[in-house]
Amino acid sequence: MKRQAIKIRLYPTDEQVQVLAQQFGCARWWWNYGLNQCIETYKSTGKGLSQSGLNSLLPGLKKDKETEWLGECYSQVLQSVSLNLSRAYQNFFEGRAKYPKFKSRHHRQSIQYPQKVKQVDETLKFPGKLGSVKAKIHRPLDGTIKTVTVSKCPSGKYYASVLMEYEDDYPSSNTDGKAIGIDLRVKDFAITYDGEKVSKYSHPKHLAKYEKKLAKKQRIAARKVKGSNRRRKATRIVARVYEQVSNVRQDYLHKLSRKIVDNNQVVVVENLNVKGMVRNHKLAKAISDTGWGTFINFLSYKLERSGGKLVEINRWFPSSKLCSNCHYQINELPLDVRTWICPSCGTHHDRDGNAAINIRAEGIRMLFSSGTGEANANGEEVRPIRGRKPKMRHSSVKLEAHTAPSAQCG
Ligand SMILES: [Zn+2]
Repeated sequence: MKRQAIKIRLYPTDEQVQVLAQQFGCARWWWNYGLNQCIETYKSTGKGLSQSGLNSLLPGLKKDKETEWLGECYSQVLQSVSLNLSRAYQNFFEGRAKYPKFKSRHHRQSIQYPQKVKQVDETLKFPGKLGSVKAKIHRPLDGTIKTVTVSKCPSGKYYASVLMEYEDDYPSSNTDGKAIGIDLRVKDFAITYDGEKVSKYSHPKHLAKYEKKLAKKQRIAARKVKGSNRRRKATRIVARVYEQVSNVRQDYLHKLSRKIVDNNQVVVVENLNVKGMVRNHKLAKAISDTGWGTFINFLSYKLERSGGKLVEINRWFPSSKLCSNCHYQINELPLDVRTWICPSCGTHHDRDGNAAINIRAEGIRMLFSSGTGEANANGEEVRPIRGRKPKMRHSSVKLEAHTAPSAQCG
């Protein structure tokens, strides 16, 4: 059984905005009230409250004149809060998480529907008063819909994170077909070689414009007095632009990974331990901003569904310093050197294409030597290169939920 979460933009009507505001308010109140109860219970008994312990408080509260408005909230939404709170408490007790925090109305608001949400045409149909909410569904909801989390971001936009379950019925992975090597770059986004030609994929053109705008809005917000209304407004604008930036990027990464997976059976990338890769903070930020990790994740799950294979080669593989013709390795290749001539065989290299060619060849070699590749892709002969241990990811798909936007805004 596989699970995947996808994020969908929601467009509630004014009336639905009211309903959501009420549910967010109830859920938040119940979380804070429940947390308080947990704290009190802990003081007197040394234990937190269980989910059922929390739930058993609800009927009384709904009857009480002062809190009878809780009855307006869809009951499974409140029960989800009880579940999440008791889990948060348990995680804290078992040392896996920090102490649960009280929730503020100034932060991201969210509620969960544990079941009964359906897709009806271009809407998500929720149980209870909320009903059908217009949605921008960019990918088919082809799994069984489980939990749906509805959130309102600080920018004022609404999203649903839809968790789906899939049966294991993907085609079995095979390596007959085209192989492509991808050289991921900070400045250009990626350079690929598919055995025939080198292609260059730049960052989406309008991204830079949004990034500039983001930096400007961040400067403006930083100048406002902390805690002031102006600061809050400016922060909200920053959040909105941030969302634009990350939407543009995600959209691009989805389209590019789709194109690559549709045209190739084997995709070879360098294993980028993105976090540990660089100590240099500026470069580290540039790398995380380019979304390499997200991109590899997108490739990975798309390949798994199409029966393809992702091969990750050692990131210390000298992809750009190796002659793709004779495998002579030069000692140094300064970043500003765009072309070079192999001192051993005299081949003229374009720095960029050469790395992608080497990455592809190394991936094919790994498939070949690990014996999992039925032949090497395309049946080419690839000379082994000494000194590196092959490492392969057997198309283990990480849930997209881990990187995807389910838990955050933007
Ligand atoms: Zn050479």
